[in-house]
Amino acid sequence: MKSEPVEESLDPEDWPQLRALAHRAVDDALDYLQQVRDRKVWQPTPPEVLARFHAPLPHGPQGAAAAYQDFRDWVMPWQMGNTHPRFWGWYMGNGTAFGALGDFLAATVNPNMGGGNHVANEVETQVVDWCRQIVGMPPETGGLLVSGASMANFVALAVARNQASTTDVRACGVASLAKPLVFYASTEAHSCLQKALELLGHGSRSFRKVAVDDSYRIDTEVLSRAIAADRDAGAQPCAVIGNAGTINTGAVDDLAKLAAICRREKLWFHVDGAIGAVVALAPNHRQLVQGIEKADSVALDLHKWLHIPFEAGCALVRDRQAHRATFSLTPDYLKHAQRGLASGADWFSDYGLQLTRGFRALKVWLSFKEHGLDKYGRLIDQNISQARRLAELVREEPELELMAPVCLNIVCFRFRGTGGTQAQLNTLNEELLIRLHESGVAVPSYTTLSGNYCLRAALANHRTRAADLSVLIEAVLRGGRELARQA
Ligand SMILES: *Cc1c(COP(=O)(O)O)cnc(C)c1O
Repeated sequence: MKSEPVEESLDPEDWPQLRALAHRAVDDALDYLQQVRDRKVWQPTPPEVLARFHAPLPHGPQGAAAAYQDFRDWVMPWQMGNTHPRFWGWYMGNGTAFGALGDFLAATVNPNMGGGNHVANEVETQVVDWCRQIVGMPPETGGLLVSGASMANFVALAVARNQASTTDVRACGVASLAKPLVFYASTEAHSCLQKALELLGHGSRSFRKVAVDDSYRIDTEVLSRAIAADRDAGAQPCAVIGNAGTINTGAVDDLAKLAAICRREKLWFHVDGAIGAVVALAPNHRQLVQGIEKADSVALDLHKWLHIPFEAGCALVRDRQAHRATFSLTPDYLKHAQRGLASGADWFSDYGLQLTRGFRALKVWLSFKEHGLDKYGRLIDQNISQARRLAELVREEPELELMAPVCLNIVCFRFRGTGGTQAQLNTLNEELLIRLHESGVAVPSYTTLSGNYCLRAALANHRTRAADLSVLIEAVLRGGRELARQA
């Protein structure tokens, strides 16, 4: 007798068992977030745990319960710490409990957001339009969700480049351009912009890094002169990139003025709003980013100050046609139909680099509905007030020194004790930061301003409370004094 071949699937063999495990995972996850304050912000991963990640390829099954236990033991406890109330490193968000459920639900229905006629695309269209409304761009503006602002900046600069090209740059490449294109931003612009221009084929030399004033805002006089000089030299100015919140100090360029310069010079106006685009939601500070609504394109991050779980960013482009013309390429196997699943006029894959795309829109849609945007606006105001409070605490301590004006929510400072040379203070503060991290008490990060190594606290944290700022100040004073004694 011939036996039937055994057909397998990846579904659980025992649904009730997996259901029980799933309930446990949700309980553990919520405990993890509810108790985040009780843990150290960060701690190093122990060597015996690190050793677990050099195992051979698992050919046989371990089972969901055992795999989950490995996650509990080896992964969950040794995290970056950015969910913690005293994490202020680099520039991140904390995530939220409901946002995490959003990621789970998105993975459950698991659509491919490259295109097609299904409702998940409506969710993303809706979310993109909400982002447009946040920054106040006109209704014709389109866009798409991307991994983060790096990719959003890349998308926007690709469109800016293509629309400025005098040749068919998609067919003939940048070598066909009669004049080299030039892009402008301040010296404080984020490194991802340079990377984008390098990858778009213009080279980092196409990127003019314009001087800033004492508040780290772009000097618009220097910018205007640079544009004129490039024209005189036979180059073609293409785009000006405004910073809505620089990564070093949170400086916001004069966006309205940059918009006016771009109009006068007929240049594309792009805003890197990774940090600050969402300040447009904050009732007490939205005037800081006034002018952003005039941009031709904006990159914004939803996983930073809006705390959507990583990854979530948005590229907004005012000229939908130019956007589509940059990325749309429709081979036979992706032709859009009139009816059925393959219909739908706009496929997101026509507006970006990715074909297969995840349903990141769902966690955004759910989170916006959960809290309402007014609350996000209040939280942004709260963080800005906390940053100003922290700057005050620094100013009140003669052993500390504020290193840059606080425009938004980033505070750069250092321990100076009774003084020292630049080299001495740099060495001291570098070691001080490492010790802070190792103590697990607080995680600021660092930057260097005019050769001075600074501690840098980016207050984009919905869990931070006023008392946490005092904890930081005390830890810095304690650590700094100890290092000064040893020196
Ligand atoms: C974080 C950041 C970026 C890059 O965004 P990602 O989300 O990390 O890709 C770009 N510009 C600024 C100002 C940023 O703060």
